[in-house]
Amino acid sequence: MNKSDAATTPVANISAATRQALLAMPKAELHLHIEGTLEPELALELARRNDVQLPWDSLDDLRSQYSFENLQSFLDLYYQLMAVLRTADDFCDLMLAYLARASADGVRHAEIFFDPQVHLDNGLDFDTVVDGLLEGLRLGGERYGISGGLILSIVRDKPIESAQHVIDLAERRAHDLLGIGLDSAEVGYPPSLFEECFSRARAMGLHCVAHAGEEGPADYVEQALDLLHAERIDHGVHAIDSDEITARLAYDRIALTMCPLSNRRLQVISDLRDLPIRRFLDRGVAATVNSDDPAYFGGYIGANYQALAEIGFSLDELCGFAKNSISYSFADEERKHQLLSEFAEWKQNTAENV
Ligand SMILES: [Zn+2]
Repeated sequence: MNKSDAATTPVANISAATRQALLAMPKAELHLHIEGTLEPELALELARRNDVQLPWDSLDDLRSQYSFENLQSFLDLYYQLMAVLRTADDFCDLMLAYLARASADGVRHAEIFFDPQVHLDNGLDFDTVVDGLLEGLRLGGERYGISGGLILSIVRDKPIESAQHVIDLAERRAHDLLGIGLDSAEVGYPPSLFEECFSRARAMGLHCVAHAGEEGPADYVEQALDLLHAERIDHGVHAIDSDEITARLAYDRIALTMCPLSNRRLQVISDLRDLPIRRFLDRGVAATVNSDDPAYFGGYIGANYQALAEIGFSLDELCGFAKNSISYSFADEERKHQLLSEFAEWKQNTAENV
């Protein structure tokens, strides 16, 4: 067990029926990095398939690397493992593996980040990555009925020229993309550096979101709103340090895509109860629950909901997060209506059993 896992002692023993209900609850996932769903088993399989040398040759050896001190120590392993992804089929397989797990966790709609700069640096071309991921989404849609789209995420700690280059490449494929995002090591890479990239993406009709306030200060959240016109903030934990910015998130109806198990594993918080998610709720900010990089952080979206139940969140509160995830998604109104109806039906069938 990771030492940070031991830091949170459950206050509530949730029943098997509640656990099952939280998995079946229809929900959307709005903060998920497809590269962060690369499980060690698939990483080793792809390394063999593509003849990529990794420094670990056994599953146990690789698994033992999954203990992180902070965001950077996670990113080091994360980027190293991405080297096993070489072909469109690899990206398709990765997407299908995620969607199978997501479907088992009640995900009905998923808006999925990918990091093209890293794949370009590994010698791949942009279309290989996008084609493979889209094919996975299409097949997953047929198999599991999950809707969704891709959000091109800028890796903020790479040179700005490489960000500008992927925006050039995205221009031709804008119709295949849902949005633009901003991820990776946050401190020292403020949103202000990416104003032009986001302005160009906005002109292509892409939705704008940004990671802000994960390790960076509340000021980064404000910059993401003012300069990048972010429609949602990914994480946003440190927005709570500013009354003014928290009030603005509520007033402007900007949702936060929070990731409890990720924040604990990367030591953004030392205990799940320190996650300010209820404080945001009390102040009228819409929060959602997501898994971020689930292969690395100890659980997919269902486990994140269950972890909040274990520290005392009520079923009603957890239902509120799921409804927010649908309402604050970029699905069209017809799809949102359909998903909210599914949610209402689930609630009616479930309420008396848990
Ligand atoms: Zn993230």
